[in-house]
Amino acid sequence: MNVLITKKIPQKGIDILELAGCKLTIYSENKPLPKDELVRLCTYQDALLSVGQNRLDSSFFEKCKHLKAISLMSVGYDNVDISAATTHGIPISNTPDVLSRATSDIAFLLMLAVSRDAFNMHKKIEKDNWGFFEPTANLGIELYGKTLGIFGLGRIGLELAQKAKAAYQMDIIYHNRTRNIEAEKQLHAKYVPFDQMLAQSDVISVHANLSSETKEVFNSNAFGKMKSSAIFINTARGGVHNENHLISAIENKTIWGAGLDVTNPEPMLKDNPLLNLPHVCVLPHIGSATAETRDKMAIIAAENIVAALKGEKMPQVINAEVYD
Ligand code: NAP
Repeated sequence: MNVLITKKIPQKGIDILELAGCKLTIYSENKPLPKDELVRLCTYQDALLSVGQNRLDSSFFEKCKHLKAISLMSVGYDNVDISAATTHGIPISNTPDVLSRATSDIAFLLMLAVSRDAFNMHKKIEKDNWGFFEPTANLGIELYGKTLGIFGLGRIGLELAQKAKAAYQMDIIYHNRTRNIEAEKQLHAKYVPFDQMLAQSDVISVHANLSSETKEVFNSNAFGKMKSSAIFINTARGGVHNENHLISAIENKTIWGAGLDVTNPEPMLKDNPLLNLPHVCVLPHIGSATAETRDKMAIIAAENIVAALKGEKMPQVINAEVYD
């Protein structure tokens, strides 16, 4: 039972794997794992526990078809060619739910930080530029009673909607491919067409997964339909927005500002214009980065591997059809 882990994970996950008798190889270099090296390291493995954004495309599955299972330590799987995995009969699992609170906290934090331009205020003080009290300076936007538009109202979007409703009594509107009846009952969330969400929202928060359908749907056309006072938040995947179009939209005051936990590309370069624009806050993809959440993710990722190696169905399998 040989298992490759592509980054050091919390000890709780390691303990589960070792207790189950797995022999672990952990790639612990402080840099991304190159694809050729990943394929080479997988040669004598039974299973892979993939951490981060390793690209598992059809050529990877062609070369690693001997793997019995792949467990992702993330909920997103846009970096994996699921149909290629299914073709080779390899089950893929992820870690949903346990990261919804932490990630929605980051969306909430960015929404509030952008509305009061908190990061730029911090930078002003660093530059010895506190200034004097001026009644018309440093003015933000209040969130109370405003409209929050959620693009992709699933697990994380629902957590954010609950927080926004409880804290600021925000009206929730959303756009999915299918209606979220639970959110409609619980929060009076209103399903609207995409363009209506753009036009009516004071804040738009992106929680849809990245796919060919959602790639760069937030482009100049979409920003042009938003309110000039609108805040754009993305904690899902950077590929859902077009970063150059976002920069122009803020520079030209088409929208008010943006909060990003995910960028396109990642990592964001230090000379990216967004870092010097007003009403912009950027974080380095830390949505699930709390000690509690990472422990839970490691436990679920390890339990998925152990189930697979015992010949059982992985509890969080994504392509369940491989078991048919
Ligand atoms: P989820 O429960 O599956 O929610 C995703 C939502 O997006 C669903 O409601 C889905 O509804 C909607 N959606 C998918 N495709 C769509 C489309 N083409 N148009 C409109 N809506 C669409 O997933 P989750 O657990 O909330 O996670 C969401 C994403 O957050 C993940 O995919 C991941 O990329 C990201 N994430 C980021 C971090 C971070 O560190 N920043 C952490 C965790 C997760 P329909 O199927 O009805 O369309």
